[in-house]
Amino acid sequence: PEDSLIDVIEESVRRYPGHTALEFFGATTSYRELGEAIDRAAEGLRALGVKAGERVALVLPNCPQHLVAFYAALRLGAIVVEHNPLYTPRELRHQFEDHGAKTAIVWDKLAATVADFPAEMGVEAIVAVDVTRAMPLGMRVKLRLPVAAARAGREKLTLGHLAPGAVDWASLLKHAPIAAEHPRPLADDTALLQYTSGTTGTPKGAVLSHRNLIVNSMQGQAWLPGPKPGAEVFYGVLPMFHAFGLTLCITSAMSMGARLVLFPAFDPELVLAAAKKNPPTFLPAVPPVYDRMLTAADAAGVSLGSIRFAISGAMALPPALVERWEAGTDSLLVEGYGMTESSPIISVNPVAANRRAGTVGLPLPNIEIRVVDPEQPGVHRGFDEAGELLVRGPQVFSGYWNRPSDSAEVLLAASVVEGDAAAADAGQWLRTGDIVTVSPDGFISIVDRAKELIVTGGFNVSPTEVEAALLQHPDVLDIAVVGAPDADGAEVVTAAVVLAPGVALDADELRTFAKGSLTPYKVPRRFVQVDELPRSLIGKVLRRQVQQQIAPRPG
Ligand code: ATP
Ligand code: MG
Repeated sequence: PEDSLIDVIEESVRRYPGHTALEFFGATTSYRELGEAIDRAAEGLRALGVKAGERVALVLPNCPQHLVAFYAALRLGAIVVEHNPLYTPRELRHQFEDHGAKTAIVWDKLAATVADFPAEMGVEAIVAVDVTRAMPLGMRVKLRLPVAAARAGREKLTLGHLAPGAVDWASLLKHAPIAAEHPRPLADDTALLQYTSGTTGTPKGAVLSHRNLIVNSMQGQAWLPGPKPGAEVFYGVLPMFHAFGLTLCITSAMSMGARLVLFPAFDPELVLAAAKKNPPTFLPAVPPVYDRMLTAADAAGVSLGSIRFAISGAMALPPALVERWEAGTDSLLVEGYGMTESSPIISVNPVAANRRAGTVGLPLPNIEIRVVDPEQPGVHRGFDEAGELLVRGPQVFSGYWNRPSDSAEVLLAASVVEGDAAAADAGQWLRTGDIVTVSPDGFISIVDRAKELIVTGGFNVSPTEVEAALLQHPDVLDIAVVGAPDADGAEVVTAAVVLAPGVALDADELRTFAKGSLTPYKVPRRFVQVDELPRSLIGKVLRRQVQQQIAPRPG
């Protein structure tokens, strides 16, 4: 492949200069304009002092500036660090403390938050992005930010507000394009620090190289039947700050010369309105998005039949939803699987009649898999026998940022897995932490996650983080947070709490308290008061027993 993601985007700029690269609330940016904006922003960042190997933090919703900032930082050989812009100040601060970026390019609403970080954290430059100013000419777009605006503190969206000391994004684009001879990144340079979802603990920064990311986008494209370079229309409803959205909506869409229609938050009405003008051909998403799209399209009498590639990931895709989608749209909906540490896609169902609902499909080209005993990775499991999935290939990361022992735990030497020294040079195996079975014809099914986690609305929620936040409340003596069905049978974040003697459960009060430090999707929907939590001999909470203890009683 090309050396770096910069070579890839420049190739698309050369091949498709007049094609639309980005569309955002009706405003469009061509590949030529995108390429020029990247070169100008790169020079602007260089003038701000950004150097090769430094981290540059992006705290942005999906918007054209997000892509320009991504590539501009890479052009300098810097390392992009993505963040969820809906995180609370506390959560953002933890990530900044971990990666130590000196430069942050942020949604203008959050500039003051980042400016308030203590000086010793070393954030030196903040670039504030007014997302209502479309690329490339600063033309204003009419913007609806339903979910994002509602979540970011429920205040009114203050537009064009600059924190003291922040630089306006638009001023970066006034610079001349960066000199062609300015050093460029190479294939094995680090491109991205991508945080994991934090399901089983604190999010860990996965170190991904240009090669890792280019390879994974190529593996995905090689898998698609009849992709049309220069003519695909991607709908970017997945957040680009997450591994799945980043690889599909940034690196894959841009390398295919696609039109990428960006949505800062998922709203089926906005998607359907855009679809009337430029029908999507490619909609990567998560199950709840497909569900809501179908319902809205049915209600509006709009067809979704233009979508040739509907690829679902991140959580299990219910076979009933696949049936509904395929009957309603006359096209396929297939499930894939991956993890941040593998750039992220590992397996996808064939986009063909032999797809198998309920499975996550077959490994992508150039990915090897093994199913092993989770306690003894040298002991291999047979077909249809459950075990931990290991994967190996050029898309596997090199380790976690600043976490050598976590890295050593998930990257296994070939000799450990293969049991012979001859295999020692064949590259490391990645432990996925997922328990799977593999059928004799190679389809992978996810059985369980080895560690506990809660998936709600497409997001992963770490029970430990929610527990720690609620334990700060003076009335909460003990707590276990699990995924459990509510009265309607939907899996929701549920807290079993032991309260101080004489205190009555006040769920509203605990919810309000939790919202002070947690993003809304992490806040428990249900609270159940219990006398004590079931624990193992060494004192670990037995989550499965908690789930039984708090299950809603019929009637
Ligand atoms: P952390 O590693 O911080 O605990 P995480 O593993 O949830 O969080 P991600 O890298 O975003 O962070 O998620 C990868 C995990 O998501 C996989 O290991 C797997 O458990 C789960 N997953 C991905 N795709 C699917 C799928 N199609 N069905 C079920 N689970 C899936
Ligand atoms: Mg993980």
